[in-house]
Amino acid sequence: ADKPEIRGVTQREGETGPGAIPRIKLVLLGDSGVGKSCLVLRYVRGQFDPSSKVTVGAAFMSHSVHLQDGTTVKFEIWDTAGQERYASLAPLYYRGASAACVVYDITNAESFQKAKHWVSELQKNASGAIVIILVGNKSDLTEQREVTTESGQEYAERNSMLFMETSAKTAANVAAIFEAVALKLAGSGAPAQL
Ligand code: GDP
Repeated sequence: ADKPEIRGVTQREGETGPGAIPRIKLVLLGDSGVGKSCLVLRYVRGQFDPSSKVTVGAAFMSHSVHLQDGTTVKFEIWDTAGQERYASLAPLYYRGASAACVVYDITNAESFQKAKHWVSELQKNASGAIVIILVGNKSDLTEQREVTTESGQEYAERNSMLFMETSAKTAANVAAIFEAVALKLAGSGAPAQL
């Protein structure tokens, strides 16, 4: 009950001026219950907490990553904070985002359909240069799988998105989401938000 909560930015120094760490605003999209909060918690704190809603409780969290080429970037990861219950998200949510992670649950076919809805929502609202990664979460629940890897992959390819299956529970591929996004942004020459 006395777990410290993460609220907003954890580190402010060095954000502007020469030598500032490039920031990447990444927005999370997807149906409620697919594991968005758990993925962030796993990535930022290395934990899996099934009652993540209570512990996360933040609009966004930041996390620095060292890339293979030696550079460091800082992700600002925005969670919907329940806004996914509505058909559209507030424009502020997308503003300045250079990446989006659209999450579904591989054990829930309906959440995959909802992911497609969020992709079209993104295409309407986000700037053209945004890097999108489609993520099929809960890959540890193989017995309950309803969405094949191939259908996720195929949909991602058709829409020029990155694709990954993850498990916030086992940590499989979780860091890989952010590495893939950072590499894609670096490769595309798109400037991170400064
Ligand atoms: P959100 O509404 O998208 O933020 O979803 P949450 O992060 O709150 O996750 C919803 C529930 O799904 C949690 O209570 C977890 O128990 C479960 N969950 C999330 N990720 C995983 C996963 O990778 N594997 C399994 N088995 N359960 C998960």
